[in-house]
Amino acid sequence: MNQLYSPLNFFGTYYRMIQQNFVDMEKMLDLFKEEQSVQDLPGAPQIKVTEGTVVFDNVNFSYDPRNQALKNLSFTIPKGKTVALVGPSGGGKSTILRLLFRFYDVNSGSISIDGQDIRSVTQESLRRNIGVVPQDTVLFNDTVFYNIHYGNVNAPEEEVFKAAQAAQIHDRTLTFPDGYKTRVGERGLRLSGGEKQRVAIARTILKNPPIILLDEATSALDTTTERQIQKALSQMTADRTTLVIAHRLSTIVNADLILCIKDGQVVEQGTHEELIRLAQENKSPGVYYEMWQKQLRDHEETGGVEAESSSN
Ligand code: ATP
Repeated sequence: MNQLYSPLNFFGTYYRMIQQNFVDMEKMLDLFKEEQSVQDLPGAPQIKVTEGTVVFDNVNFSYDPRNQALKNLSFTIPKGKTVALVGPSGGGKSTILRLLFRFYDVNSGSISIDGQDIRSVTQESLRRNIGVVPQDTVLFNDTVFYNIHYGNVNAPEEEVFKAAQAAQIHDRTLTFPDGYKTRVGERGLRLSGGEKQRVAIARTILKNPPIILLDEATSALDTTTERQIQKALSQMTADRTTLVIAHRLSTIVNADLILCIKDGQVVEQGTHEELIRLAQENKSPGVYYEMWQKQLRDHEETGGVEAESSSN
């Protein structure tokens, strides 16, 4: 955060870094409005999110004309459901999240929420309705309390504790030297990746947005941390429309819909059971089946938790 005070010519670099990684972007965006690559239309209204249904309709997008990042991408996330994005590196998963947050505008097609094209509403109102949990959370150099309260600065203290409880970070926080007043970040107590992510989840629960963008951490976690994270995630995503770049087996298995993204296109889609059954019936592995087998093998090697079977 020291870099906040750096000279103006660093702003462009910083903004691009935020675009790439969703690093503390909600705060950064307030500070770097002039750097935004998309602009509100004159007199644009605020978005009205009633259900939180997200529709990508024939979306095409390229960062660079020589390389189309997304091609004719269409899918719907019904109200409160979870769509998991999986697929090889460079396939376009992060780009899908960035477009829904409107870091960039689509080249053709549209993205809408409850029937409103996201280009027609203010960015501020769009982003107010979306909670983002990045893969690597960078915490503010401030207290644990501040880091959670940031999700809704008007929330009373009890709500902060409730959000921390839901995110499975309350009891842990009480063991820190100064409890909620413990300073974290670069100049304070260094939290583990799993703890930082749970603070970010608590912040998002407090923000209470109808739509969640989640980039799951790829790192292998021990069984206890994995369970805590899963519990925190399921509290956060319950009844919220969720788009997740999924790495954790339990998230993938329990997603309402899995989109396998390769070369900017949906190459396979369905629930976990459907995709596995399809591969077995076709007697050809398919992208998802192969990916799943690899994840299972990796998981066994790292001694991670068993995948929870979705018998629901
Ligand atoms: P990973 O799993 O490795 O994070 P991904 O599926 O999220 O990959 P994207 O990051 O969305 O993939 O990238 C999709 C395509 O867009 C890739 O070809 C990538 O090189 C390109 N790309 C991503 N970001 C930019 C950028 N800022 N400028 C130019 N091209 C980009």
